[in-house]
Amino acid sequence: MDSGMKRFLNEMADRAAAMAEGARDAATAAGKAVGEKKEEAAARLELMRLRSERESAFSEIGRAFYLMNAGRWPDGSESAEHRIESLLGRVSDLEMKMKELTAKIAKDVGRTCPACGAACGPRDRFCPSCGARLSE
Ligand SMILES: [Zn+2]
Repeated sequence: MDSGMKRFLNEMADRAAAMAEGARDAATAAGKAVGEKKEEAAARLELMRLRSERESAFSEIGRAFYLMNAGRWPDGSESAEHRIESLLGRVSDLEMKMKELTAKIAKDVGRTCPACGAACGPRDRFCPSCGARLSE
């Protein structure tokens, strides 16, 4: 449990940063949707939806952890460990879908970020996902 907890806490710190980025992402993606192929815009929207679903799962994991550690996890329902485990499974599923979608977009667009692997538009100067500078 302890190393799992440590991993989780590290993960949460990453998520906090990713969440701030997510908001910026949404704005970028909305702007970029103009002039993009409809299909690609839809794929990007779906990617964003999956990302926010993953954030929800993470915050629910955090809540379960908190209640469990505070000794306030309600009796009679499934255990906090079970709940967390199934949420982590959900996160894995979502991340797999996100990977597939990213790969699909990358295949259509033909260009990916060297830092994070996200699909980038042919004229992007910065990665729409992580903000890394892209070579021309
Ligand atoms: Zn990137």
